Amino acid sequence: MKHLFFLISFAFIQLAVQAETATTSFVDFVNPLIGSQSNHELSNGNTYPAIARPWGMNFWVPQTNVMGDGWVYNYTDTHIRGFKQTHQPSPWINDYGQFSLMPMKGIIINENKRASWFSHKAEIAKPYYYSVYLADYDITTEITPTERAAFFRFTFSESDSSAVVIDAFDRGSYIKIIPEENKIIGYTTRNSGGVPDNFKNYFVVQFDKKVKFISTWKNESLSAEKELTDNHVGAVVGFKTRRGEVVQAKVASSFISFEQAERNLNEIGTKTFDQVKVEGRNKWNETLGVVDIKANVDQMRTFYSCLYRSTLFPRMFYEIDVAGKPYHYSPYNGKVLPGYMFTDNGFWDTFRAQFPLINLFYPSLNAKIQEGLLNTYKESGFLPEWASPGHRDCMVGNNSASIVSDAILKGITPKELQLPLYEAMKTSANSNHPQIRSTGRRGVDYYNKLGYVPYNVGINESAARTLEYAYDDWCIYQVGLKLNRPKEEIEVYKNRSRNFQNLFDPSHNLMRGKNEDGTFQSPYNPLKWGDAFTEGNGWHYTWSVFHDINKLKSLMGGEKVFAGMLDSVFALPPIFDNSYYGGTIHEIREMQIMNMGNYAHGNQPIQHMIYLYDYARQPWKTQYWAREVMDKLYLPTPDGYCGDEDNGQTSAWYIFSSLGFYPVCPGTNQYIVGSPMVQKATISLENGKKIVIDAFGNNKDNRYIQSLLVNKKPYTLNYLDFSEMQKGQTLLFNMDNKPNMSRGISLRDLPYSYSAVETEK
Ligand code: CA
Repeated sequence: MKHLFFLISFAFIQLAVQAETATTSFVDFVNPLIGSQSNHELSNGNTYPAIARPWGMNFWVPQTNVMGDGWVYNYTDTHIRGFKQTHQPSPWINDYGQFSLMPMKGIIINENKRASWFSHKAEIAKPYYYSVYLADYDITTEITPTERAAFFRFTFSESDSSAVVIDAFDRGSYIKIIPEENKIIGYTTRNSGGVPDNFKNYFVVQFDKKVKFISTWKNESLSAEKELTDNHVGAVVGFKTRRGEVVQAKVASSFISFEQAERNLNEIGTKTFDQVKVEGRNKWNETLGVVDIKANVDQMRTFYSCLYRSTLFPRMFYEIDVAGKPYHYSPYNGKVLPGYMFTDNGFWDTFRAQFPLINLFYPSLNAKIQEGLLNTYKESGFLPEWASPGHRDCMVGNNSASIVSDAILKGITPKELQLPLYEAMKTSANSNHPQIRSTGRRGVDYYNKLGYVPYNVGINESAARTLEYAYDDWCIYQVGLKLNRPKEEIEVYKNRSRNFQNLFDPSHNLMRGKNEDGTFQSPYNPLKWGDAFTEGNGWHYTWSVFHDINKLKSLMGGEKVFAGMLDSVFALPPIFDNSYYGGTIHEIREMQIMNMGNYAHGNQPIQHMIYLYDYARQPWKTQYWAREVMDKLYLPTPDGYCGDEDNGQTSAWYIFSSLGFYPVCPGTNQYIVGSPMVQKATISLENGKKIVIDAFGNNKDNRYIQSLLVNKKPYTLNYLDFSEMQKGQTLLFNMDNKPNMSRGISLRDLPYSYSAVETEK
């Protein structure tokens, strides 16, 4: 006994020494549970712990909620019913191609009955590794994934009926047991739309211990058949185990074939669980380490957790063939075709900051994504707007134009793809998908004829569509210019880019829906959510003129009035009209409860608004509010977000803002200057250059820029330039607790607007 005690103490000392010497790395700051304490009524992120590789084809998630429920993992839940392979981009869009594994003692197929108690205190969630103790069975489950495969490690209790249930889910599945190989193969067809009829996710599960028992099951009853196809099938394997005995399973899947699923299993190959885990940790550190920041520990946690969220989507939907080349199952035409494909993204959300983040940090990835977008066009006739995995009818706009343009204009898109993608943008801008209304442009004929989508012709959210189409037209025009397209071809887009003016109502100084006959919608309540707008009101959507803030300023009566209108968003009480939705949607509630007036950071339309003070020569208000939002609305806790995270977009806002700049208008080269949260940051660009940011004297109060030196030279512009940054740059911010009202206020300090500055009235 004495000897045993000595050995244990020695082991503890060893561990303590190791812990002290091991350096904390980027991924250690990530908490995948941030945002998971959410529900239909209130989103604190609506995220789930995605255990994955960056942009991986498959994510894994412990499933606390019932099969089919989009809120798959809720922080307040107490039971886990399975470990699910998931492809879900958002609870509102839901999942596809999902199946699960669940270890247990005895055989319990029913998902409610098999669920086990667990505690967050006996749970480890890392991007590359998940571990949890399933209390009802005295079993620990560990998962470490690759891009398309996953390694499971089950530490069983003492039992001659230890088991793992493989659940291929309902709505059409297939299972086959191969006892002599301790192997199960199957497919799931479960989806939430956006797939051809032949859609399948083929999976293979390979155990490393001789099974004592193996069986298929159908609709919760064991079956003597080795192979089954039905609404809901699965398999169960049983082992005799000692307490503490480890059984491992390697799992992989493919959207292409069983053969490819086996090939994807080679991502694990002969590696051990710990080797895959270390490889995953290194991959995440490499990805997150592109930005090395210094800040307080809560800010570090929030920052790297946000960066993790911004490096998950759009996911790879391609696989690697026997020759090592990318190919993919087309979620558009059901064929297997060469080349890249990415999916699970709502461009209405992500064009704003998420794609600009990829362009700055991971441009070579976006070169592949752009090829995938062209493939989507080739396979479906349209660029995607909301893809999961194929076109989904969700949201408004034609913001693929922003994503395609920004990559071309920043020199990221391979040369040979530029003209075809320009043609794809033109097609998508001048037609509407026959079945998927949000793909292409709904109301395109009206828009092209009248210069707006009318309010009263049965097309919902018409003003939001018009404003976004006008910005998208500006994007297309910019690419047309770059590619030296004929004047008559690109003038169309140039002219349409001014269409936002058609909806400006001087009597409210806000955007307003307009009827087919040219009269404004009436009645009009600028506090009414939805209706002519999308998940926002007139006060939120009026700023959606990303490319021409000068014109918006002059429409409002000059920059002082414009800045006053920005002030009003915060000054208004959080009152709202929810009648369009017949209830208070979560986005409204998230605005109401933050005590920030009518500012609604929990949803995307207004997320760039704070940066517009820079266009009105009051940059200190941008600095004030950017920090206010960072400090108040982003926390490293399960309720850490202030609304739906949305595929990296709300996180990308935080990443950019933390570094002191934000991309208000993708398609320009400009980042609009805010107020850095970091003490110091080093961005390592793919081209080998570095952007080094120092914020001298920075703290919660010292949020104002006293001066900025760029490459050691005084710099008063309210924007930074992408091309200049590509050469490597040092930014030295001197921070103070009082605004410097003489900095950033000359006309030449203003960021890009399509219209020239008009003289102040
Ligand atoms: Ca949203």
